[in-house]
Amino acid sequence: MPGELAIVPAAMAAVFVFWGCLMSHVMNTYARLPVTFSHGQGARITDTEGKEYLDALSGIAVSTLGHAHPKLVAAIAAQAGRMLHTSNLYRIREQEMLADKLAEISGMQEIFFSNSGAEANEGAIKLARFYGHKKGIENPTIIVMEKAFHGRTMATLSATGNRKAQAGFEPLVSGFVRVPYDDLEAIKAVAEHNKNIVAVMFEVIQGEGGIHLASLDYQRALRQLCDEHGWLMICDEVQCGMARTGKWFGYQHAGIQPDIATLAKGLGSGVPIGACMAGGKAAGLFGPGNHGSTFGGNPLVSAAALTTIATIEADGLMAHAECIGALIRSLFAEALAGVAGLVDIRGHGLMIGVELDRPCGELVGKALAAGLLINVTADKVIRFLPPLIFSENDARELVDRCVPLIKEFLAA
Ligand SMILES: *Cc1c(COP(=O)(O)O)cnc(C)c1O
Repeated sequence: MPGELAIVPAAMAAVFVFWGCLMSHVMNTYARLPVTFSHGQGARITDTEGKEYLDALSGIAVSTLGHAHPKLVAAIAAQAGRMLHTSNLYRIREQEMLADKLAEISGMQEIFFSNSGAEANEGAIKLARFYGHKKGIENPTIIVMEKAFHGRTMATLSATGNRKAQAGFEPLVSGFVRVPYDDLEAIKAVAEHNKNIVAVMFEVIQGEGGIHLASLDYQRALRQLCDEHGWLMICDEVQCGMARTGKWFGYQHAGIQPDIATLAKGLGSGVPIGACMAGGKAAGLFGPGNHGSTFGGNPLVSAAALTTIATIEADGLMAHAECIGALIRSLFAEALAGVAGLVDIRGHGLMIGVELDRPCGELVGKALAAGLLINVTADKVIRFLPPLIFSENDARELVDRCVPLIKEFLAA
């Protein structure tokens, strides 16, 4: 009987909610909001109670094409119907096609596929050390930035510039020196006394650190400095890459070409895939046995990434992202002009930060109640990372609904 069958999921849901309140067997590593989503469409997502939300976060810069994009759904279903996985013991057609495409749009020569951003950065760090050893540097050292975020594995946590995230996990991995962000003199000072430097690793826009942009002049001068010293330039494009800022990769705004760039988040529009792309002095270093991953770049995730890239191209989502991002920033600037407590509105394309003069984490819950998915990072920065398919109407709705929450919060 259909009626009886319907009771089963309802009962299961009740048990699930009950257990969720009492205790969960999921390890307690996230401060989760008390909401569960069941499905989405475009920039809209619906919770298990049937309430709809505007998604201005896209799973932390992941759902590039929004939710349930028909082209992506079809590509994933078709690939699943053919084959999910074979391992990297064999050639993988979809992975090779993806590598060709990424090389074409990034200016890189060769690509290693991982399953996450941290793993992509692990690949970059290993590559930089390998490069150093080949040059006879016994203790290769990488320059990293204050407020940087590179991941949660031991090496990427050590490269991350957040003491709170590192606390309790010492000993950290050695071989990193930290400098202030967007400060060329600080790097020149390190170069003078440290002969073990092999690379500089940075985000052209720091995401987790609070949407901080490195100036284009800094990036160009840093490229030159890396060339002068024979260092690799590593751009962590995990958050700012994949068309989010209006170009395929953030470094392309400065017209520079890094030796290594890493990707993940938006690359597969929701399936777990990362990439460590190498060119210039970093190409041709690794051979069989130097690095690997069981899942990395399997047929399923490669097909999803290929479709993500093809759809961004076909639908002109790069220019769209830049244009909608500029609109969101200008609408916020207009609506929040003169409001006491507003510090800054900044970003590039659909990577946007609104900085307040006080910790504002509670805005995330208030926005959720109002049907908006947003984020706060670095305590005081409201962060927006909408899907690239965000429409002009979505943009206006986001600002219209967010501004009263911000004003109310600052007036309290
Ligand atoms: C999210 C992020 C990472 C880590 O990616 P994971 O997939 O969570 O491992 C690394 N670097 C940057 C810039 C990021 O934003």
